[in-house]
Amino acid sequence: MTELKGGCLCGRVRYTLQGAPLATTVCHCTHCQKISGSAFSINLVVQKDQMTFEGHMASYRDTAESGNILHRRFCSNCGSSLASEPEARPGVLVLKAGTLDDYSTVKPTAQIWTRSAEPWVRFAEPLESFEKGR
Ligand SMILES: [Zn+2]
Ligand SMILES: [Zn+2]
Repeated sequence: MTELKGGCLCGRVRYTLQGAPLATTVCHCTHCQKISGSAFSINLVVQKDQMTFEGHMASYRDTAESGNILHRRFCSNCGSSLASEPEARPGVLVLKAGTLDDYSTVKPTAQIWTRSAEPWVRFAEPLESFEKGR
């Protein structure tokens, strides 16, 4: 079985994912730009019951551009953004791929919210693209 491990910058929050992600998506929404401090975030959509977290995460209740409520989890010590939980999809958790220890298995297959993508962002292999969410 696939097992992926990761954590925050300071190491106080650690997690394990047992199983493969359901989807791997690049998100260009303006909220991902804010929380990542970058042009986009890379999101692994995973089954919540396959995730184990250790350490304390603070939470921010965000109304996403889609109108959905997202609980954005981050390390209360170093501020690393780790995951978000969409209220509309209770069994699902969205993991920030940049927090993985080993990035080598991450292969995005789609990009969403391209309407706010920076015009200079290009990927080596074309991704299925959505102007908004999907
Ligand atoms: Zn931390
Ligand atoms: Zn986003």
